[in-house]
Amino acid sequence: MADRKVRVRFAPSPTGPLHIGGVRTALYNYLFARQHGGDLVLRIEDTDSSRFVPGAEDYILEAFRWLGIQFDEGVGVGGPHGPYRQSERRDVYKQYVRQLLDAGRAYVAFDTPEELNARREATPNFQYDARTRGSMRNSLTLGAQETERLVREGAQYVVRFKVEPGEEIHVDDMIRGDVKVLSDILDDKVLYKSADELPTYHLANIVDDHLMEITHVIRGEEWLPSAPLHVLLYHALGWAGTMPRFAHLPLLLKPDGKGKLSKRDGDRLGFPVFPLEWHDPKTGAVSSGYRESGYLPQAVVNFLALLGWNPGTDQELLSMDELIAQFDLAKCSKSGARFDYVKGLWFNREYLQHTPDAVLAPEFDRILRQNGIEAPMDRVEAVVGMMKMKKINFVRELWPLCDFFFIAPQTYDREDKFVRKNWKEGTAAEMTELAALLEGVADFSAEGLRAAVDPWCQEGGRKPWNAWRVCLVGTGKGPDMYELAAFLGRGETLERMRRAVAALG
Ligand code: GLU
Repeated sequence: MADRKVRVRFAPSPTGPLHIGGVRTALYNYLFARQHGGDLVLRIEDTDSSRFVPGAEDYILEAFRWLGIQFDEGVGVGGPHGPYRQSERRDVYKQYVRQLLDAGRAYVAFDTPEELNARREATPNFQYDARTRGSMRNSLTLGAQETERLVREGAQYVVRFKVEPGEEIHVDDMIRGDVKVLSDILDDKVLYKSADELPTYHLANIVDDHLMEITHVIRGEEWLPSAPLHVLLYHALGWAGTMPRFAHLPLLLKPDGKGKLSKRDGDRLGFPVFPLEWHDPKTGAVSSGYRESGYLPQAVVNFLALLGWNPGTDQELLSMDELIAQFDLAKCSKSGARFDYVKGLWFNREYLQHTPDAVLAPEFDRILRQNGIEAPMDRVEAVVGMMKMKKINFVRELWPLCDFFFIAPQTYDREDKFVRKNWKEGTAAEMTELAALLEGVADFSAEGLRAAVDPWCQEGGRKPWNAWRVCLVGTGKGPDMYELAAFLGRGETLERMRRAVAALG
């Protein structure tokens, strides 16, 4: 076991959009695989056809492409252990169902849903297990001949795992340690259904983990209750020697209050719980996604990585490479991680500031066009560069901060606080003087303007900045004045100054 190559898997069921908790699970698997030079497999667990949702698989692939999480093997990639969709592996599972039946570790049960419901109603807390299986309709009570006859005649049946009571089961969990469970509390889970000739999640999951040579099962805490059964299955199938180690990740908790994070929390507080926007194929309802809401994929990755783990220092901004180097599965917390979406906004703001202007510009260009503005991409990029440091969480927040780059102030509002404070007696004359100076500046770049205007200010003790801002912007916002004037160019700068002087006097 020690010298086996690390192989982990992400095994979503395509039952809808991938929840953000699932994204974190995949990310931790990815970090663990990369850090150990191992493989990450993408397996689609679609044996429950009643819960299948069209489009979900494509959505999953697209989400990871966007996030920069690559799979080494699996659906969409291929590899030597395929097929990687469980619905295409029917025949693989049958022989293991047979093996468990032959070894007496499983049995055939004919109880109909109606019969089971009747039992549940008659017996509070009814569980199909060692205490009750003797009074049900199964191969243990009916005998081999009768069972064979029923199967031959086409009766529907399921195969159940035969859990022996009185056994202490140990789950070796890298986060929670040695988790002990008494087998008496487990029920005889259904492993296979004749109706669709498919195994259930439990059997398919174990068989595939074994055949795909998975060494570590890293998954959400909600799967911890299934783990004792999985351990028993490994033993029953004779695979205990290569049983993967488990790591059950802490739950993601509501941003406020108690309980686990749900889609409703996102709707209530206004943040996405899915990586990409999701269009429900049945209802047509649209759920927001991180991508469409304007998050950068690196910010989402960094934010999620720190929900349940931290590097043990106060470093919060970690690139994917730093995460790979520093991530430590054993140091994940056992208790749930609060989903602090406000912190997610902070991460996005930080990443925006460190993202090249050219990468952000197309998104801002889209927003400009929505506002009826068409500008050459280098102009768009220049504005992003001047303004992205202004503590914005999203590129779209640039528009109200930046409209004046593209649209000259139409009116000058004397009641505006900034205008009132900075437009005084003598201001108009000073602006006219400044305009005359600008007319003669040869180099109208920010540096050229600085070289020409700074000495004029110093020699007269002048402070024209705020009034000049009133002229070019109309109010108290915007970047450095030299950068702004250079961006607007001589003609537009002088025109705006002339109009302000005329309007404000
Ligand atoms: N198919 C399960 C899911 O949807 C996989 C659980 C596991 O990783 O074992 O999450």
